[in-house]
Amino acid sequence: MSNMNSLEEYKKKRRFDRTAEPGPEVESSESGNRFVVQKHRASQLHYDFRLESGGVLKSWAVPKGPSPNPSVKRLAMAVEDHPLAYADFEGVITEGEYGGGTVMVWDRGTFKPENGDVESALKKGELKITLRGKKLKGSWVLVRTRGRQWLLIKHRDRYASDVDIALSAPTSVVTKRTLAEIAEDEGGDVRKAASGDPPGIPRRTRVLRRKGRRRAVWGAESSE
Ligand code: MN
Repeated sequence: MSNMNSLEEYKKKRRFDRTAEPGPEVESSESGNRFVVQKHRASQLHYDFRLESGGVLKSWAVPKGPSPNPSVKRLAMAVEDHPLAYADFEGVITEGEYGGGTVMVWDRGTFKPENGDVESALKKGELKITLRGKKLKGSWVLVRTRGRQWLLIKHRDRYASDVDIALSAPTSVVTKRTLAEIAEDEGGDVRKAASGDPPGIPRRTRVLRRKGRRRAVWGAESSE
């Protein structure tokens, strides 16, 4: 299988006794065409755009995140393949480890390649896809410009819009949490994570734990 060693770089960069991230196993999902976008407050805020292909997630780091506006071209730096299980990872990577910071599952769903199979389209440097996510929908293209540098661009269709989706839909598609809330729940750096949330977002100030159940308190004064 051609992807047998495609997780080598992923493996080399991480210490699995120090990070909560999934191990480097090659496996396919039932659908075989999952996609995920993870908002990641590491040394810089960025969005990791990942598409399932050949038992791994082909991955790009998109500093400004995907834009549904067809006239906006977003830089997407190709990074190492990630294991499929990464699509379910939301939490904290220990500070000091590779990618240390807070990770949110910002969007996910399935995709359909529009111009042949993913591997050969990527080799040609142009991959057209239809996304079926909660936030990202319709037709998109990834075009290689040079080296690891690609552009992620929305095609004109009924899902195109000039809404700033990073501001209008900033929270986890799985848990509805902000980056600060994920950091707070998972023992991360809350202040650093909060710098990746839009300003003025309602913020849960603390979490009460009672009989193993969590109750969010929104904007509460400290009264206990
Ligand atoms: Mn990342």
